[in-house]
Amino acid sequence: MTETVTNWAGNITYTAKELHRPYSVDALAALVAGSAKVRVLGSGHSFNEIAEPGAEGVLLSIAGFPPAIDVDSAARTVRVGGGVRYAELARTVDAHGLALPNMASLPHISVAGSVATGTHGSGVGNGPLASAVREVELVVADGSAVTIGRGDPRFGGAVTSLGALGVVTALTLDLEPSYDVEQRVFTELPLAGLDFEGFSEIMSAAYSVSLFTDWREPGFRQVWLKRRVDQPLAGFPWAAPATEKLHPVPGMPAVNCTEQFGVPGPWHERLPHFRAEFTPSSGAELQSEYLLPRGHAVEALHAVDGIRETVAGVLQTCEVRTVAADEQWLSPAYGRDSVALHFTWIEDTAAVMPVVRRLEEVLDGLGARPHWGKVFTTPGAALRERYPRLDDFRALARDLDPSGKFVNGFVRDVLAA
Ligand SMILES: Cc1cc2nc3c(=O)[nH]c(=O)nc-3n(C[C@H](O)[C@H](O)[C@H](O)COP(=O)(O)OP(=O)(O)OC[C@H]3O[C@@H](n4cnc5c(N)ncnc54)[C@H](O)[C@@H]3O)c2cc1C
Repeated sequence: MTETVTNWAGNITYTAKELHRPYSVDALAALVAGSAKVRVLGSGHSFNEIAEPGAEGVLLSIAGFPPAIDVDSAARTVRVGGGVRYAELARTVDAHGLALPNMASLPHISVAGSVATGTHGSGVGNGPLASAVREVELVVADGSAVTIGRGDPRFGGAVTSLGALGVVTALTLDLEPSYDVEQRVFTELPLAGLDFEGFSEIMSAAYSVSLFTDWREPGFRQVWLKRRVDQPLAGFPWAAPATEKLHPVPGMPAVNCTEQFGVPGPWHERLPHFRAEFTPSSGAELQSEYLLPRGHAVEALHAVDGIRETVAGVLQTCEVRTVAADEQWLSPAYGRDSVALHFTWIEDTAAVMPVVRRLEEVLDGLGARPHWGKVFTTPGAALRERYPRLDDFRALARDLDPSGKFVNGFVRDVLAA
């Protein structure tokens, strides 16, 4: 490539021999059909080599496609182009009086890239963002168009697909009537004495709940509650209300965070932690995340607490969320209501990776499935044991892509393809 292309964090520089930015499905189809190795780059917010095609491969960006966002108000659905980001999608959908059920911490990420990696927000009843997808339109290896909708036996592999099935040119998502959300932040929630019942009550105290800690002390520095105003207001007796607006990374200015102190606002301006119009998060960071069966939540938190000093040494913030089970075969929440333990590390890869490995040692026995878009070291063989429908996904990938055009090193490790 003549230009240097990196991911958002800057820890990955793509080595592809060519970068193409086709502006139409026809041009895209010709490029795919004529290339031996292809990967798509979404908004580049993943922290690992999942989008890397390799030095002989072609990297495709469809961010320049006409930004199709077609709302069907009567059917309460939206068809969204494969390069569109959540921020633009949310604004358009909201203008039609409609809403998505949930969002991730950041609205700047692309829809296709997010659902491909199992990206999620929080909420005991909220599945990953892929749960809203009802249909996927792909350009597959031979350049032909394939549509897979709910009800198709292939659908379980089609959405959280790691980019291994083809290029997603459009997705159709379910919507619901628009709703307002108010966000409140509480401080200093102890870990001592927390049992599973208490954890469940805390995480059920609002539509979406996140716990934050830097693990410098046991317990949680912050609790973020996002309540839909059409749902009852529950008390939160476990921690004290914050007295100033807070950023989840201690010491960072809270100006780019979404509104707090219970000021109601549209769902898309409260469900993400960061405002669409500001630079997201801290910018200089790596991230890891593990989804575990929710019943192991308290055990997992104590396991991390047991190596607290090791973790804290390279940590900016840790966020604990809940994710409802879904049915995407490669979803980290597949088949199990989950607790998600997220870690925003400092940007020093050499210092962070040994800590990631140590963390995996204490979480592996609890069935941890790493987030596909973040940094992890879990070997492919161990991952494969944690995905009971992996063989079905492998068969689907072979069917749509017999020569393995979309199989890169990352996917090969996972699928043993
Ligand atoms: C600051 C920050 C905050 C984050 N917050 C959250 C969070 O709250 N929750 C969470 O779960 N994750 C979170 N993430 C992780 C992020 O959501 C995922 O890494 C997600 O995949 C990013 O989407 P992307 O478009 O940037 O993907 P990319 O990194 O560009 O690509 C990811 C994968 O999707 C594939 N892909 C992308 N577009 C297409 C397409 N059109 N067709 C086929 N394949 C495609 C790529 O080939 C690749 O395999 C966060 C990341 C950052 C940087």
